[in-house]
Amino acid sequence: MAMANSAEELVFNPPELVAKNAHCSSMEQYREMHKESIKDPEAFWSKIAKEFHFENNSVGKFFEYNFDITKGPIFIQWMKGSRTNICYNCLDRHVLAGKGDAIAFYWEGNDPADRNSVTYAELLSEVCQVANFLKSRGVAAGDRVAIYMPMIKELVVAMLAVARIGAVHNIVFGGYSADSLCDRIVDAGAEVLLCADGVWRGNKLVHLKEIADEAMKMCSSRGVEVRLNVVVRHMTRVTHPASLHDTSNGHPAKKTHFDHQVTWNSDVDVDWETATSSSSSECPVVWLDSEDPLFMLYTSGSTGKPKGVLHTVGGYMLYAATTFKYSFNYHPGDVYFCTADIGWITGHSYVTYGPLLNGATSVLFEGVPTYPHTGRFWEIIERYKVSKFYTAPTAIRTLMKYGDEPVKKFDVSSLRVLGTVGEPINPEAWLWYHRVVGGGNAAIVDTFWQTETGGHVITPLPGATPTKPGSACFPFFGISVCLLDEAGEEIEGEGEGYLVFRQPWPGMMRSVYNNHQRFQETYFQKFPGFYTTGDGARRDKDGYIWVTGRIDDMLNVSGHLLSTAQVESALVEVEQVAEAAAVARPHPVKGECLYCFVTLKQGEKFTEELVADMKNKVRSKIGPFAQPDYLQLAPGLPKTRSGKIMRRVLRKIAVGDRDFGDITTLADPTVVELLFENRPANA
Ligand code: ATP
Ligand code: MG
Repeated sequence: MAMANSAEELVFNPPELVAKNAHCSSMEQYREMHKESIKDPEAFWSKIAKEFHFENNSVGKFFEYNFDITKGPIFIQWMKGSRTNICYNCLDRHVLAGKGDAIAFYWEGNDPADRNSVTYAELLSEVCQVANFLKSRGVAAGDRVAIYMPMIKELVVAMLAVARIGAVHNIVFGGYSADSLCDRIVDAGAEVLLCADGVWRGNKLVHLKEIADEAMKMCSSRGVEVRLNVVVRHMTRVTHPASLHDTSNGHPAKKTHFDHQVTWNSDVDVDWETATSSSSSECPVVWLDSEDPLFMLYTSGSTGKPKGVLHTVGGYMLYAATTFKYSFNYHPGDVYFCTADIGWITGHSYVTYGPLLNGATSVLFEGVPTYPHTGRFWEIIERYKVSKFYTAPTAIRTLMKYGDEPVKKFDVSSLRVLGTVGEPINPEAWLWYHRVVGGGNAAIVDTFWQTETGGHVITPLPGATPTKPGSACFPFFGISVCLLDEAGEEIEGEGEGYLVFRQPWPGMMRSVYNNHQRFQETYFQKFPGFYTTGDGARRDKDGYIWVTGRIDDMLNVSGHLLSTAQVESALVEVEQVAEAAAVARPHPVKGECLYCFVTLKQGEKFTEELVADMKNKVRSKIGPFAQPDYLQLAPGLPKTRSGKIMRRVLRKIAVGDRDFGDITTLADPTVVELLFENRPANA
């Protein structure tokens, strides 16, 4: 496929400061390590496994799998027979090594006045108390425990406590509706819930306990009784947003706490503090088989009904730890800040497990990037001297709208590595991140991965990889990337096709919870012998991988296959455009034509001239055939709670069809109606 792409020619060498002390400091070294990881995964990963605690000190049967559905059921096993516990490796290992006083997390509340920190030793004793309490209430290895909490220390404590006793956590983003929470509890068959009373996100109050109560009622009518709900009383200890208004005179904000009323059902509800503080702060771990389940987590639902992805203990642990260490070039002394919510896989692997397995110090942030001002991230980076920062393109595009000023107000010169994840990042946004946030001195790592992959699968390594804006660059250790055409033929060298992986890696999912059939059909049916990601990708002449977006979202205009990323990046290059989403609409002559939704930067007007500019931009960047037939102004785009554009909904709007499918994971469903009502007259 023809593709004009100037970003392909733009190459940024690893910044000197980063390359100097990198775990992997040259492409040569990367290639050598990658080669070994593919040819001899056992040799590669058993070296890494030695850095962790395995109770029987063996590495079990290292690695067995079937990726070919025509030969039998799909299965993947790493180190089966080895016994370990991820909580032990996250906490006890460091405390026993004398590092108990190191800060595990700086907690930064929604309100900048609410801050504290917790050490590894403190975390361990709190985890043990909660683990002991759960045991005393009959929670045992293999039981599923649902968690519905905001970004507070107790969320980390909860997941580690569950993991410590061998139970399986099922974390639901604190803010999903009662319906979604109920679906996930029922699907998991969870009898125990850990939640909080509520949370402020910016000025918005989310009544978590109320939602949880409603969800539990729904569960009951669907035959699943939640018998225990442990509730963190969070609202009584945080500052009410209104108190910020007192800061105009330069005095510190007056703390006004909020009397948040919740209904209490004493048959089920217990107060977290009372219940756990009297428990012993020592609790032996339950040793699990490497292949025992660790957690289940639902995908974002961008392409359809969310899938309950199942991960196991041993392989996930090795992979989360190793990707964290290499992709961010983590070293002791770093302060790391990942803005993702723990309710998503990014939070599981890169707020909790990856950092803790490496003994890192992180920032845990409860709030939103624009509250109380649009420089909040940068303020936090300045305060804690953050050196490694990880966020999503959607956040970068949002913050770009406010220009460079909010960044310039703060000293962010401590930054060394800037990560992004979630969607393809437009070169425009990449360059802004690099130039304005990184001051040109930080390495950008565009990490491609999925809930299913457990950790990064395509990513630059900060000290080694020369980067190209918008490319996720090269496969991580253990990942054998392959591009296939529709017929399943491998595309060698330059070209574009289905992004698939030829062999398993430790952190990959093992099944869809309770639905192995769906697992096999979704990921292994289309191309026997390969794991199919569902995304498309292009390999350029230098071997760089460019993830182009979902295969389901591909555009086929007059026989030309186009990716959403390609069209959207062109539109975002127009000065006034903040964000764009392109979808296909059936066309009698062209087969499909382009229907694009665009969000403008603050204060910009949607004029005829601008529409012409946008059309011209796409014509000149891609080709005349790609000129959009429809351009609609979008005050907002339908996004999942994790910030991804849901193009399947936009496709429906483009053809005037209200049958939107599963939209339970949308952050703001009202946007859909708004866009529907404001379709252009010619549509
Ligand atoms: P569902 O599977 O339910 O449709 P989802 O795929 O959005 O939801 P996630 O697992 O959260 O759920 O997201 C993984 C997807 O996000 C990838 O398949 C890819 O489309 C996109 N993605 C993540 N990181 C990147 C990246 N760096 N570049 C391009 N795309 C990315
Ligand atoms: Mg997906």
